[in-house]
Amino acid sequence: MATIKKIGVFTSGGDAPGMNACIRAVVRTGIFSGAEMVGIRQGYQGMVENQFLPMDARSVCNIIQLGGTILKTARCAEFRTPEGRKKAFKNLQKNGIDGLVAIGGDGTFTGAELLSRTYDIPVICIPGTIDNDLYGSDFTLGYDTANNTVIEAIDKIRDTAASHDRVFFIEVMGRDSGCIALQAGIAGGAEAILLPETDEGIEHLLHKLEDGEKINKSSSIVIIAEGDKNGGAYNVSKIVKEKFPAYDIKVTILGHLQRGGSPTSYDRVLASRLGYAAVKALLAGETRKMVGIRGNKIKLTGLEEALNHKEFKLEADLLEMSGILTI
Ligand code: ATP
Repeated sequence: MATIKKIGVFTSGGDAPGMNACIRAVVRTGIFSGAEMVGIRQGYQGMVENQFLPMDARSVCNIIQLGGTILKTARCAEFRTPEGRKKAFKNLQKNGIDGLVAIGGDGTFTGAELLSRTYDIPVICIPGTIDNDLYGSDFTLGYDTANNTVIEAIDKIRDTAASHDRVFFIEVMGRDSGCIALQAGIAGGAEAILLPETDEGIEHLLHKLEDGEKINKSSSIVIIAEGDKNGGAYNVSKIVKEKFPAYDIKVTILGHLQRGGSPTSYDRVLASRLGYAAVKALLAGETRKMVGIRGNKIKLTGLEEALNHKEFKLEADLLEMSGILTI
């Protein structure tokens, strides 16, 4: 087993709060362990375009609290082709990089797995996405911060909803995953939560709103994950307005503000643990693995296994409780 001397680190796909804290942990753990560290700008785009920058321990000063990613991120179409990956590998060779740490979502993992398998370069991946939609880790980087951002917004909207006796439909991120919608919906006391994974149908929501009216609820908050099968917040609001024309209905799409902001304490510590564990694993000879957190313990999962499994992360008790606590 050859010793890894120079490690490249990059962020890829959608940005997530905690990526910077993770870059810091990767760089400093690598340097502490005697490796040279190199940042690759804009994910696979920078790998293809030879955008490499040496990083020392001081290069990651004062970033632990910052949202976004100092290395920038991108979606790179060229890397999806064998020619693009060849170009990327040649640049890695040119820069003497013999190990990689990739921070991103499942697309990033797929690219890393392909590159590593084709060119036999060791790679460890870290789950960085607000959606919490990856197999092999109870939580992904940025998920906790995004939840906190959403409940802050819900609390503010609740003030105006209650003052005007309005029904608010708030759309949150999650094309395939209802994790943010469920977690933030419960924490924000939402009257109803519509998720991509559980198709309860619009009738259920209409009954819920009717029931609320009967017990004199004068305002309601409904959280809708963007991937909900009823077509998103605007569509749902239209259907509800047709059924209940007297309702004063408003829609808020939280959109990209959920991606930004200073990472929470939880995300900073998770980022630090995952970054530290990724470099340790790489230097111990592991490759094509994802470092995740299971039951508050670091766990390695093979990239192929992580990519081939879908995990249902919505706890049954949360689903049941969410309907009961808003009666
Ligand atoms: P998020 O969950 O935030 O969307 P992600 O990592 O899944 O993050 P993607 O845009 O899907 O984001 O993937 C990031 C990059 O990984 C792509 O732009 C592309 O360069 C590379 N990639 C994705 N899928 C593949 C693939 N099948 N083969 C090679 N490279 C890929």
